[in-house]
Amino acid sequence: MSVFSLSDFADHEQVVFCSDDKSGLKAIIAVHNSNLGPALGGCRMWPYASEEEAIRDVLRLSRGMTYKSAMANLKLGGGKSVVIGNPRTQKTPQLLEALARAVDNLKGRYIAAEDSGTSVADMKYMAEFTPYVSGVKDKATKDGKRSGDPSPATAYGTFVGIRAAVKEKLGRDSLDGLRVAVQGIGNVGFDLARQLKAAGASLWVSDIHQEQLDRAQQELGATVVGSEAIFGLDVDVFAPCAMGAILNDKTIPQIKAQVIAGAANNQLAEPRHGTALMDRGILYAPDYVINAGGIIDVYHERTGFKHEEVTRHVEQIYDNLMEIFERARVEGRPTGEVADVIAEERFKR
Ligand code: NAD
Repeated sequence: MSVFSLSDFADHEQVVFCSDDKSGLKAIIAVHNSNLGPALGGCRMWPYASEEEAIRDVLRLSRGMTYKSAMANLKLGGGKSVVIGNPRTQKTPQLLEALARAVDNLKGRYIAAEDSGTSVADMKYMAEFTPYVSGVKDKATKDGKRSGDPSPATAYGTFVGIRAAVKEKLGRDSLDGLRVAVQGIGNVGFDLARQLKAAGASLWVSDIHQEQLDRAQQELGATVVGSEAIFGLDVDVFAPCAMGAILNDKTIPQIKAQVIAGAANNQLAEPRHGTALMDRGILYAPDYVINAGGIIDVYHERTGFKHEEVTRHVEQIYDNLMEIFERARVEGRPTGEVADVIAEERFKR
């Protein structure tokens, strides 16, 4: 296959293929754009069915990171890495060391962090071989210390983003009495649900793991619904916090919520689904704008973490979304399209 001619390759600065016979490492590191700073993005380990699938994934994800960081006003470019393999069976210390050395060879043009298939512990191990990893340091917060895991910051940013979307669409500052459906009650989804509950919202949740559902029911008083039923609930806000491409031809006609605002990456199956939501009068908070809390957290880890400063930075998600919503309203365009234009204005200038 030709990599240069792939539509996803488009404007990438650098794509590096890395391999190591001893550990079995097969990885690809993509640097999409470094105009604003070094390319920071997660390292995903996944048993891709083909090399082509892995290449497409890393190119798409690294480009997304450029837009996410530019929108969050970070001095960061966009990059991502993927390791081809099963994280449960093939992730050995030798493989992580080889990956760390490959990252180190780029001398800081790319900075790795945890993603699907890699953990804080993996990044800590890689940090023994390269300084170019993030999401590893314990952080002091007002409630005590927490690990390098950026999920709490992502959840808080998503909570702030829901407040912005509710203000825009429903004209309300308070979330008291709001009905919210959360799809996926994992690291981010549960923490988000906890904050929504504290703000007075009623919760409906779905997940594929029963223990997560039991916990949400017992600790948050959430109503559990089936994986398919979550889309068509009579609620005010739908918060996707599981996987991507869930806003598609099949699900959009079912949605009764007036607001879609959640943490999952790549929620729109295709860009045209942003138009479909707009046509139905549903306000969509673009995923990479509302879920930027994690990258903001990881960025501050590298520049000197001060809890109040990070919190203020995460809270800018409210203003970013308001700017997008206003422009989308005035120009009659889908919010995702407007977000891309604003991000490009920031990283291309
Ligand atoms: P997680 O794996 O902890 O949680 C995801 C949850 O979704 C799990 O409980 C899983 O069982 C559930 N799930 C999977 N398939 C489902 C389905 N069909 N229906 C309902 N639930 C389902 O992951 P996370 O860290 O909480 O991330 C959630 C989403 O947010 C992902 O899309 C991730 O890419 C995105 N995101 C996370 C961060 C972060 O800081 N963790 C940052 C940005 C974006």
